[in-house]
Amino acid sequence: MALLDIEGLSVRFKTSSGLFAAVEGVDINVDRGEVWSIVGESGSGKSVSMLATMGLLPWTAQVTADKMAFDGQDLQQLSSRQRRRIVGGEMSMIFQEPMSSLNPCFTVGTQIDEMIKQHLGGTRRERHERALDLLAQVGIPDPARRIKAYPHQMSGGMSQRVMIAMAISCNPRLLIADEPTTALDVTIQAQILELLLRLQEDTGMALILITHDMGVVAETAKHVVVQYAGRQVEKQDVKSLFANPRHPYTEALLSALPERAGDQDRLPTIPGVVPGQHDRPSGCLFNPRCRYATEHCREVEPVPAAGDPARTLCHYPLEDGISPSPAAAGVAR
Ligand code: SF4
Ligand code: MG
Repeated sequence: MALLDIEGLSVRFKTSSGLFAAVEGVDINVDRGEVWSIVGESGSGKSVSMLATMGLLPWTAQVTADKMAFDGQDLQQLSSRQRRRIVGGEMSMIFQEPMSSLNPCFTVGTQIDEMIKQHLGGTRRERHERALDLLAQVGIPDPARRIKAYPHQMSGGMSQRVMIAMAISCNPRLLIADEPTTALDVTIQAQILELLLRLQEDTGMALILITHDMGVVAETAKHVVVQYAGRQVEKQDVKSLFANPRHPYTEALLSALPERAGDQDRLPTIPGVVPGQHDRPSGCLFNPRCRYATEHCREVEPVPAAGDPARTLCHYPLEDGISPSPAAAGVAR
């Protein structure tokens, strides 16, 4: 039984012009101790899918799924009280902006203590010991001093370490990290990723890392979900994905990696942007930006072919880096 088992997840928001499907048809099955990545540009619905899983979206969001289970418990059937016990305890999440996730009015110690009190309990002294332990575990020097610090007295990297300490304070079995390094300096980014991977290994928790950066995926994940405009466009293990991307969007993301771009002066970027609520094209949502798009792509929305384990959302999935698309015949690759 998978630890997190989600099938056919959809999230719709009511807008003045009707329902907007921010996420549609996302499947993710994470086993105990696995490291997954959800990758895509901003606007791909990565955060929304995971916030929906955590039950953290505002009530105006309509969340539906064919299946949504954590450790065999149907999340959709739980009362909000039961759900709160899981969220923040067995399943926890960290976000991009550590500074805005911490409360500026309370010390680091008070905020960690509050988490532990809510989910684990224990005496004041036990909780204090646990907090010191956690700060040491996430690599904060001099925990006895830092525990009394206020968020503004810490750097972005230190604040993210505190957020991680809070997220693991209740020994979660699943940690979701939403762009945890995007707001940080490059040198600090690597340290935070290393920390997350070390904690994952030490504790055996499962980790889902949300990122827009294929470089981060390469260094961390074993399994990858690629999302575009709220749709899951392919799902593969990291080696196969890098060797044989099946979806043209994945191929485009990969070709923007510095090591793949070769010694061109400028990194190739994917022309255009992810379509928003008002400019979704007909047919395949990626068609305005796809180098292989045909008339058929502009008219008919693709569905994954039966028997495709990557569940590629494309009329012409790439095979060993070659597109069988009629439009692609003669396209130099
Ligand atoms: Fe490109 Fe067509 Fe595949 Fe969409 S369906 S990704 S437009 S080839
Ligand atoms: Mg996001």
